[in-house]
Amino acid sequence: MPHRRVAVLGGGPGGLYAARLLRLADPTCEVVVHEQGRPEETFGFGVGLAAGTQRNLQAADPDTLRDILAAGYRHDMTMRVGEDVVRVRNDHLVGVARTELLAILQRHAEKAGARLEFGTRCAAQDLDADVVVAADGVSSATREAGDFGATVDVGRGLYLWCAADFALHDAMFSPASTEHGTFVTHAYPYAPTRSTFLIETDEATWHRAGFDATTEATAADATDEASLRYLERAFADRLDGHPLIGNRTRWLRFRTVHCERWSDGRTVLLGDAAHTAHYSIGSGTKLAMEDAIALVDALGEEQDTTSAFRRYEDVRRPSVERLQELARRSQLWWESFPERMHLPVEQLMVAYMTRAGNVPLDRFAETAPDVVHAALEHYGDGAAPPGGIVEWVLDRPLHHGGRRRPDRRATPADDGELVTIENVTTDPWDDDGDAAVARARAARERGAAGVRLSGPAERGALLTRLDLAERIRTETGALTVVDGPEALRDDLAAGLVSARTDLVALTAEEPA
Ligand SMILES: Cc1cc2nc3c(=O)[nH]c(=O)nc-3n(C[C@H](O)[C@H](O)[C@H](O)COP(=O)(O)OP(=O)(O)OC[C@H]3O[C@@H](n4cnc5c(N)ncnc54)[C@H](O)[C@@H]3O)c2cc1C
Repeated sequence: MPHRRVAVLGGGPGGLYAARLLRLADPTCEVVVHEQGRPEETFGFGVGLAAGTQRNLQAADPDTLRDILAAGYRHDMTMRVGEDVVRVRNDHLVGVARTELLAILQRHAEKAGARLEFGTRCAAQDLDADVVVAADGVSSATREAGDFGATVDVGRGLYLWCAADFALHDAMFSPASTEHGTFVTHAYPYAPTRSTFLIETDEATWHRAGFDATTEATAADATDEASLRYLERAFADRLDGHPLIGNRTRWLRFRTVHCERWSDGRTVLLGDAAHTAHYSIGSGTKLAMEDAIALVDALGEEQDTTSAFRRYEDVRRPSVERLQELARRSQLWWESFPERMHLPVEQLMVAYMTRAGNVPLDRFAETAPDVVHAALEHYGDGAAPPGGIVEWVLDRPLHHGGRRRPDRRATPADDGELVTIENVTTDPWDDDGDAAVARARAARERGAAGVRLSGPAERGALLTRLDLAERIRTETGALTVVDGPEALRDDLAAGLVSARTDLVALTAEEPA
């Protein structure tokens, strides 16, 4: 349909890319981007773009992707705990400076004929246009003012986003322990002289380190320098003596945005304004740019705005929700990371890769055979045969509580020694999760060997049972058995290798 005038609110990656694609699709359409900041101003440092995103951008607009990749910095991925390091090759991970990304997108939007207006904060309802694309970010005032059925969940942990003035060789996940607790960095290179250091911690550690006070003392547009100096010392060996650099850097809690509807009248939400996904899956920029592709397609295909917005949402919602669920699991995993730092680093890497259920153990073994085989040796005390990993994992003996079991399958004979907990929670660290841990502890004090976690056969429920089992066995020392359908034995095997459970009970149920 012809849209004569489109106003784009917000000149982040989502808004700028939408502006360009709108003009490419219909050069007669008037497109104006309203951005409150200056062209060169931005928050944060580098962002990561994975292979899948690159394919989508290639199909939509090869010229822009070419420039992004030329400015990008490829890297592999490592996990480092103390002096132990494990590396996973990844040809498709690219880091790019957010400033550079925005400069490229601004240039391409203007080249396509969009008008960019900087320096004024606008309200969607005041914009004179047929369609308003609200790409005004996670704190979207448009979302707050409109009828979108929005909810915002606030994470338990705290993070800050800073950088260092050198390029790490690879992306690096690495914890640092101080007298106050554990901090974990997700760091990656994004330019020849720059690396992003995203650093997170739990609330108790944050308080003990006095960061509630430093946060309070930091003005809204300033950097919390006291925290950066502390973290420089904590991560000194990984920084090789370099300082940490801030850019309006302060401690934040991640906000996950969900909206029941993405449009209201002539206004449609896009990117972080509509939905966010925890930074640990590095997908926010990707989601915003893919939204732009789908929105412009829908506006081109449909005859009226309402149908176009419905089509856009129908196309995008399933993959956005799938990624949000992966991100939710990933967030819970990182928020509980200190509990599993005792694992050998290869096993930790397997736990990381399989944390959200989207990377099967077998597939990870194909991409990183040395890592998986080292992890299996730690787990099973011996070398796994090539192929047939899942069966081998289930067949390993277990020594627990002074007793040797021949393999990792619970038998009906175990039932007498176990307390069964029917798990209904989706978050092992919520009140129901706390209650399950308390029951396991009480059962153990009464002499039970451990707990058996059962519940729906559906895959999401199984993954949550594995997470809850991990929490129970770590916090109480109880033996854990997780029920799961035979058809999901891959997930159960990944759970065993990642030390999420001690035993599994295979059932004949079909996952929904
Ligand atoms: C710590 C952290 C790490 C991240 N790492 C990654 C990563 O590695 N990979 C990745 O893909 N994503 C990452 N992200 C997510 C990514 O930054 C966002 O998802 C992405 O920027 C969303 O793009 P957007 O265009 O929707 O919104 P934004 O980039 O937030 O842009 C919104 C724009 O709107 C402007 N604006 C807001 N209100 C108004 C107004 N009223 N008037 C005018 N202008 C307005 C703002 O100034 C801003 O420029 C990370 C996020 C965080 C917090």
